[in-house]
Amino acid sequence: MASCIFCKIVQGQIPSEIVYEDDNVIAFRDVNPQAKVHILIVPKKHINPMTEINEKQAKVMSDIFLAAKEIAGRQKIGGRGFRMIMNVGSDAGQEVEHLHVHLLGGEKLGKLVG
Ligand code: 5GP
Ligand code: ZN
Repeated sequence: MASCIFCKIVQGQIPSEIVYEDDNVIAFRDVNPQAKVHILIVPKKHINPMTEINEKQAKVMSDIFLAAKEIAGRQKIGGRGFRMIMNVGSDAGQEVEHLHVHLLGGEKLGKLVG
């Protein structure tokens, strides 16, 4: 999608600090980190989570979870734990309409729910 920031990052048109990449997924540091480790995991294909997620694309979520496990290991936070957050739509404050999961860790995180 031409106007999408994350598509531009996927295509290398906007620089980012990439920490993980495979055939389907890319992960890079958030430009405005909310924890010592704050990484965004995004599918390479543009998917809007409000309107475009369907059974055919459901595999993208397992791709993201497997990438998160690998990234946590590389960042050396897998043992201490981390949080994954997905903002979907305006009530959740989603800014970028390209499906993404935030991976936060590297320090004790305040509890949100549970
Ligand atoms: P959302 O609120 O949509 O879940 O989160 C979007 C995230 O993308 C925000 O945390 C924001 O800091 C991050 N972000 C926005 N633009 C850029 C960018 O150009 N580069 C990087 N690395 N992160 C970005
Ligand atoms: Zn996109």
